[in-house]
Amino acid sequence: MKRNRKAKILATLGPASTSSDIIENIFKAGCDVFRLNFSHGSVETHRQNLKSIRNLEEKYDHATCVLADLQGPKLRVGDFKNTQEELKKGGKFILDTNSALGDDKRVNFPHSEIYEHLTPNSILLINDGRIRLQVLEQHKDQLITEVLNDGIISNNKGVNIPDVILPIDSLTNKDRADLQKALEMNVDWVALSFVQQADDIIKLKKIIDGKALIMAKIEKPSAVKNIDEIIKVADGIMIARGDLGVEMPTEKVPIVQKNIIKRCRHFGKPVVVATQMLESMISNLVPTRAEASDVANAIYDGTDAVMLSGESAIGEYPIESVSTMNNIIENVEKDKNNFNLSIENIVSDRKVDNTDAITNAAYSIASNAGAKAIITFSVSGKTTMRMARERAPVQIIGLSPNIKTARKMQIIWGVNSCYSTKDAANTTEMVNIACSVVKNKNLVMADDNVIITAGVPFGNAGSTNLLRIAKIIDDKDLT
Ligand code: PGA
Ligand code: MN
Repeated sequence: MKRNRKAKILATLGPASTSSDIIENIFKAGCDVFRLNFSHGSVETHRQNLKSIRNLEEKYDHATCVLADLQGPKLRVGDFKNTQEELKKGGKFILDTNSALGDDKRVNFPHSEIYEHLTPNSILLINDGRIRLQVLEQHKDQLITEVLNDGIISNNKGVNIPDVILPIDSLTNKDRADLQKALEMNVDWVALSFVQQADDIIKLKKIIDGKALIMAKIEKPSAVKNIDEIIKVADGIMIARGDLGVEMPTEKVPIVQKNIIKRCRHFGKPVVVATQMLESMISNLVPTRAEASDVANAIYDGTDAVMLSGESAIGEYPIESVSTMNNIIENVEKDKNNFNLSIENIVSDRKVDNTDAITNAAYSIASNAGAKAIITFSVSGKTTMRMARERAPVQIIGLSPNIKTARKMQIIWGVNSCYSTKDAANTTEMVNIACSVVKNKNLVMADDNVIITAGVPFGNAGSTNLLRIAKIIDDKDLT
């Protein structure tokens, strides 16, 4: 499945997109990474979805990528008898430890450990700040609040309390259980919500033990403050604008977004811009002009990927949302006047190593010698990720003998990630394998020049030290 763009698309699966047909159509419309959101849905549904996604792998000869998103220490209200209730400004509403279904007077709020940290002035923001409640009285087993604005409260909605530092672990018991299930399912990436510091990621890394890559979701002011340390230990970053825009003033979000993209590109780590990108498409066939601009601007800034949440999970137009995003990205990337992601725009104080030297050389050859593709032979995917950092003008074909690596790399900017069952034993074999894979998949044509990077001896991760220019010829008798 060849895409005609460099930036990638993540789509969240949910009730609107759980049939295998819809998943297949979302994939065909341009979804590169499927997000299983463990804040919602049953483990069984996630497992079914994962099966549908992996079925596409064989059908389309295309490594598929799955991100399991852990809820993290997100506070949530319980469920309601009638699914939702309308609250009126000035009314009273109670949050309590009673596990009975909620009504228009009260709802379960199962986080009694934080009740004592709230005071009569604390503000609780519900459903991304759409409803504000002010604590009037705080007891051991209930919080009596005043409703500050009219709005709808519904099942399992999130609660943010930005002004209070809450003593909660970055991995809840639910996260630990979900993580085990996700790893059993063999997901490729695990995202952690409400990261506050690098230590949260280091802890998770110990548990995951190399079984998946880790994405840190930046949605707390403290994470923004510690961003460089977090980028260094995480494998990727998600700018989770939904909660970020509740925890911080909304007008700060665009600035934080631009800065985080820049920092991630500096460190060569993939970055995803998420939430409300095409929000109105939840119930409309076309996006607002502002939404089209939002997606476009993230692409102009060089983000690796953009993400759909409600649009594909609960919206009326999951497939159209993906194709709309696809079209916006394709158009931006064709804009010769303004789309320029050259690395010179990024100030770098990093130490340069062998892999940097090779990927940098590959970039200049691709720019100057008319090569049609850069093929990165990479067991672990590190060279492929590093190559993407250069934002080269040609396609990067990430080739790995490890299917898990091939899957993980689908999220990376500009990378067409391919899996080859054959590993190379020497340089000639490497050139042969690389050229036949890209030719068979019609990624390049006979007579095209390609650049190949690899590490010798073969089969070792992290040892890129070789660069070849090869011409694709029909009989595979390669130059
Ligand atoms: P969520 O994360 O959808 O899991 O809340 C994304 C965000 O907060 O933007
Ligand atoms: Mn969030």
